[in-house]
Formats: sequence, C-alpha cells, structure tokens
Amino acid sequence: MILAADPTAAAVLDAVPCYPVPPSGSSPAIDALRAARTGHGFIVGADGMMLVLRRPWLELDYRVTEGPECHSPYGNVGPDVLVFRCGPFPDSFLKAILQHFAEAMPNEAAAFILWHEQTRTFRIEYPEIDAATPSRLVYRPPVLGPGWHLVCDIHSHGAGAAFFSGTDDADDAHSTKIAIVVGTLGLESTPTFMARLCAGGMFLTLPGLPFEDAYDAA
Ligand SMILES: [Zn+2]
Repeated sequence: MILAADPTAAAVLDAVPCYPVPPSGSSPAIDALRAARTGHGFIVGADGMMLVLRRPWLELDYRVTEGPECHSPYGNVGPDVLVFRCGPFPDSFLKAILQHFAEAMPNEAAAFILWHEQTRTFRIEYPEIDAATPSRLVYRPPVLGPGWHLVCDIHSHGAGAAFFSGTDDADDAHSTKIAIVVGTLGLESTPTFMARLCAGGMFLTLPGLPFEDAYDAA
C-alpha cells in the first residue's frame, strides 16, 4: 500500500511509521519497531496512540493520547514502559560530579555522562564553559567519538533551587537524554535534585536519580 505519492513525504512516513495494533496486541511490524536499535514511530490501539522510541541506551513506550471515543477493532497499546538499556550510572560518578560542582561554586557548572554502546562503559565529561555566573551557564555539548552516546546532562544551579528553567526547556527541547539539575549547593545545605527524560519533545519527570543506589527506589 502506498501511503504517500510524493517521495519525500513517503520517506518521512517510512522513517517514522505508524502501525495499528491488532486485537492480539502485537504484530511483526510492532515487534520490529520495539526491537530497533534506534528510531521511533507510533502504534495506534483502542486505548490510544503510543510513541515507541528507541536509542541504543533507551526504550520508551509512552501513550500520548487517549483512545478514540468511537468503537475500534484494534487491540490495546498496553502500559507505558521506560527502560535504560545502559543500566544505572555508577554511584561514584554522582560523588565526583557533586565535588566538581562544589569546586565551581558560587558559579553554575555542568557535566555529561557518556555511554559506549560496544563496551557498555560510562564516562564523565566536563564541558568547556563559555560563560559561568551564579545564575547563568553557557556550555557546548561534547563531540562524541564512534560508539559514544550522550546519555545524561547534569548542571548545577549553584546555591539556587533545583528546577528546570525556561532556558533549560529551550536547550532540551530537541534532545533525547536524561537531564538532571542540582540545586541548594553549599556548606550549610543538602543538594537537591530534579531529573527528567527529554524525548520526542516531551519532558518526563523521573521519580528518582538513575544512579545505582537510587535505581531501586526509582
Ligand atoms: Zn538550569
């Protein structure tokens, strides 16, 4: 079946496919979309439309609409699923990054957690900072070598509160990554955190930090 006569439109639809869910709940096309190393598409069921997004380090199935009010013969898209294929980050990274942020005080600072797809190892990269003040930070994403993926972007708000600002939202709108902001840094206070998954132009709040110790709690 031809979904679009125009070749460019057909290529767009091919890159981001949309499949109906059969009454059984799965099909070879849906299984292939879910098993993909990378890419995204949609499945449509009686209970709504679901985004199925994959990265080498991420599996996200997220229902983005309610089901149609009319009767449909389709099966259900099923529950939302979030799996970090890379596993949790080493706890030692959190300590090292918080130390780095403390040393940058009173200024804001940032760190990236990178993951290598073949060796399945993580590393921290501290970005070059173009401008840093207690309320503003300008930094560039890392240049990634073969096999490396930017999985997490962590920045501090110094002594300020941990929240995602309008600038953070604009910076993260087109990324697929975990974003963490750390606030209330200082001698007299305990650091506070906010964590979210940025994917498909959405920001999904994470219930915990994706580090080894916190992983079970999340
Ligand atoms: Zn921020």
